[in-house]
Amino acid sequence: MVHSDLRRVLFFLFAVLVINLFSLAVEGNERFIIGDISVESGEMRSGYLPVPAKNGIETRIPVTVVNGSKPGKVLALVAGVHGYEYPPILSLYRLKDKIDPATLSGTLILVHIANLQSFQKRIIYYNPNDWKNLNRVFPGDPDGTISQRVAYVLKQEVVDRCDYLIDMHCGDGNEALIPYTYWMISGNKKLDELSKKMAVAFGIKYIIIDQSRTKDLSESKYLGNTAVLFKKPAITTESGYLGKTDEESIVRNTKGILSVMRLLKMIEGEPDMVAEPVWIDKYEVIYSDEDGLFYPLTEMGYYVKKGEMVGYLTDYLGNVVREFRAPFTGIVLYIIDTPPANKGEPLFEVGSILDK
Ligand SMILES: [Zn+2]
Repeated sequence: MVHSDLRRVLFFLFAVLVINLFSLAVEGNERFIIGDISVESGEMRSGYLPVPAKNGIETRIPVTVVNGSKPGKVLALVAGVHGYEYPPILSLYRLKDKIDPATLSGTLILVHIANLQSFQKRIIYYNPNDWKNLNRVFPGDPDGTISQRVAYVLKQEVVDRCDYLIDMHCGDGNEALIPYTYWMISGNKKLDELSKKMAVAFGIKYIIIDQSRTKDLSESKYLGNTAVLFKKPAITTESGYLGKTDEESIVRNTKGILSVMRLLKMIEGEPDMVAEPVWIDKYEVIYSDEDGLFYPLTEMGYYVKKGEMVGYLTDYLGNVVREFRAPFTGIVLYIIDTPPANKGEPLFEVGSILDK
């Protein structure tokens, strides 16, 4: 008796499985739900992810979900973690108009402006309510300050829900920056290979091999790193500079995304892989140790020699108080190109090109 009951139950479960697989094949993709936005297969929907209030401060995150009519990968594209970095933000609105859910395989999550309050107030680096840098507080805290709560929502609703992630940045309002991509190394070979393919497919020739990110899940700091630590292949891209909205930087972002989507077989065609990437195996950000005015002596994309003066700092009375030199020979990936310099904030980043 017991045996035949078991057989009946197994047969029932098998039948349910077959029916489910069959309906998936017929109907296509599954419904995708993020926050209270529910998107059927073959649909596109936009809405907000709420970030709950604490001490009277709340915000929301504008997102679009494009749910393809065919099953496939879930790719998250995040713009505006820094609210003064415009080309990634503008490229995602363009993409929204370009993608047809009827021909898409898988699902796109577009986070239009992750740090809406910083965007609204035109603030570089920080959120104006807690003066924290959103890209240093991941994986976030539901009981923390507003930046920590935004990070928590992004971790729960975006990182956990995607298979792949691109965190899109550029030179902030004060940063002259050449385009480059961070390929973050986790030590997990399979994961790292997938992230590497995404980096090369995105199309920017300068790629940093980044071994420096923390492996501590509770202190993952950066969005891209958080995704990687949760075993989602991810890259962080930089395209755009000085708060501009130049066409070249926007198009570089849009093209890069479409190429990664081809790599992941979400749309037809072959990805546009960088033919000869320039690998950067070491980089250093030089920070200011005082407040004052920064005077750059070189430009983004220029090469500097070890020990060469890259810029200097004056106090508010105009006295030169500090010289900043290149820590090693390499390329200036970005350099501050507006006068304010603050203790603890970056002045420039140098990358060392890997010898082949
Ligand atoms: Zn940024």
